[in-house]
Amino acid sequence: MSDNVRDVVIIGSGPAGLTAAIYTARAQMDPLMIEGELVSNTDQPGGQLMLTTEVENYPGFVDGIMGPDLMAAFRAQAERFEAEIVTRRVTRVDLSSRPFGVWVDDPNAPEPSYRADSIIIATGARALMLGLEHEQRLLGHGVSTCATCDAFFFRGHDIAVIGGGDSAMEEATFLSRFADSVTIVHRRSELRASRIMQQRAMDDPKIRFELDKVVTDVHGTDRLEGLTLTDTNTGATSELAVTGMFVAIGHRPTTELFEGQIELEDNGYIRVHAGSRTSVPGVFAAGDVQDHVYRQAITAAGSGCMAALDAERWLASGADEDNW
Ligand code: NAP
Repeated sequence: MSDNVRDVVIIGSGPAGLTAAIYTARAQMDPLMIEGELVSNTDQPGGQLMLTTEVENYPGFVDGIMGPDLMAAFRAQAERFEAEIVTRRVTRVDLSSRPFGVWVDDPNAPEPSYRADSIIIATGARALMLGLEHEQRLLGHGVSTCATCDAFFFRGHDIAVIGGGDSAMEEATFLSRFADSVTIVHRRSELRASRIMQQRAMDDPKIRFELDKVVTDVHGTDRLEGLTLTDTNTGATSELAVTGMFVAIGHRPTTELFEGQIELEDNGYIRVHAGSRTSVPGVFAAGDVQDHVYRQAITAAGSGCMAALDAERWLASGADEDNW
């Protein structure tokens, strides 16, 4: 463990964490960013953009950019300003008093690996997936979790949207502007979505429903070619020929490390006030871990900037806990 107390430790390395690293490094705060480790292709440093192919809506890239290339550029920019980046997973935090403690590796070690006067949490959220064998392999090759990001690539395709909540209705309605047909596949006969969102989808001539059905197999070699659906009542299977599958069964913010130490919203996202301030003075949150509404790379980057400025100003003004 290093004895020195850092001004700021940033946990997470998607657009929010890396933007916070760029800003705090340029503000001479000598940030340490703990970026995570490669666990699987859905759990790796760089966040959800590492799972995306082409990003066409990030301003500044006229011809678009691949998600991993965009994150590599963010990271190189943070390193250019000498942000220290550690490729480890945080296993425990102690937010009960300042300086805060951050552990990597053994969470039971008596001393934390790092101490910091402020922490920026940018651990993101994960799109829930169905857990099928070929779903992961075809992510970015017909399988997607974000219609706003990818709809444009599905012009003229037949696609399926999985889920019965507001997200599924919203994604289906949005996708129908691009696709030839959209089939909403939902595991029950009743939709969970609000009446108005359901109605909008039902009124759309391009949208049809497969209710009481679950996806039990995903087909395709290099790109998605079709799905096997299983009827939840009869067990009968059927094939759905689609070249796009949008999984819209919800997101889970990555907050396990902070539960019980910081206030969360009812839906599990970190509660922030006055910009990026959490319930613990000195702890800021940025990106999807505190945003269940917009969930875009550009909004995550923007909130990473906010957290960096909030942390800088709070420390510069004497870290007054009464003025939080
Ligand atoms: P959600 O409301 O939790 O709905 C998730 C849907 O996915 C449910 O229909 C659920 O089925 C289904 N599902 C979950 N796990 C599944 C699995 N393993 N296999 C198959 N289906 C599965 O999530 P959401 O739609 O992302 O919405 C999250 C929150 O954001 C909600 O409060 C929602 O109202 C809000 N939201 C609002 C808007 C809007 O107003 N514009 C847009 C998007 C989201 P069951 O119904 O059987 O549980």
